[in-house]
Amino acid sequence: MGSLTAKAVVMENKTILGSKIIPARADVVQSASEVMDKLLEDCGLSHEDIDYCISTGYGRDKIPFADGNISEISCHGKGAYWIDPNIRTIIDIGGQDYKVIRVKENGALDNFLMNTKCAAGTGRSLEIMAKSLGVDVSQLGPLSLKSDNPIEIINICSAFTEFEIRLHLLKGEDRADIAAGIIKLTANRVAATVRRLGPKNDMIVTGGVSKNVGMNKYLEKALKTKFVEFTEDPQIVGALGAALFAADKVKKIAKTHI
Ligand code: ADP
Repeated sequence: MGSLTAKAVVMENKTILGSKIIPARADVVQSASEVMDKLLEDCGLSHEDIDYCISTGYGRDKIPFADGNISEISCHGKGAYWIDPNIRTIIDIGGQDYKVIRVKENGALDNFLMNTKCAAGTGRSLEIMAKSLGVDVSQLGPLSLKSDNPIEIINICSAFTEFEIRLHLLKGEDRADIAAGIIKLTANRVAATVRRLGPKNDMIVTGGVSKNVGMNKYLEKALKTKFVEFTEDPQIVGALGAALFAADKVKKIAKTHI
């Protein structure tokens, strides 16, 4: 359960059978039920077919059909390590927050840092700034790639940045340069948190913002690295980790019944 989207993953024998992402509803239980029902329908399954369900994210302890819940930090770590066991740093950029998570060589959680209450660096602030520029957030990244000369944006606060973007538009600045400026500012903000935690390769970006090609480019530049790619869908890594924890539980239960 995220602030903007709800995600679900169903696995069998550690293979992904299907996944689903829907916009989050005001009610966390409604979001969870809806995303789960849609995923089960897509896979031709019912709730009875699910051996174990783990919930994670906002309101994870409120989901009536979940058998247990685990923090999203652990779930992102678990999911990323499953994608590639060489991964040590996970940069999860979602709607309302971003987290930098480090895992040990055996995949166990090492340390993490997250943004303060400020929205700068989050997916929501990118959405607000994209709107000021007159484009959808999904277009911001591709537009930024057309620029070799990002505009320097001074204000870090999203509310002030909105106004600053309008001023650049009034001055007739190139929209691609403004898009690149927005993304560079956001990426540098996130990169500073990665440096505070102490970056360790290999790294992966997860969460919805990992779909922003411009963010990946400017983050790779700032951190002098090349991210591991997850072609399935990097937005589902937290839900994937939850499914993997559920699979571990099923194994444990099976062992105790031998
Ligand atoms: P949460 O888990 O907090 O609900 P998500 O991980 O789903 O958040 O990320 C939501 C953010 O992802 C949005 O605010 C937006 O910035 C970004 N996003 C989602 N889809 C895309 C896309 N196709 N292209 C670029 N950015 C995207």
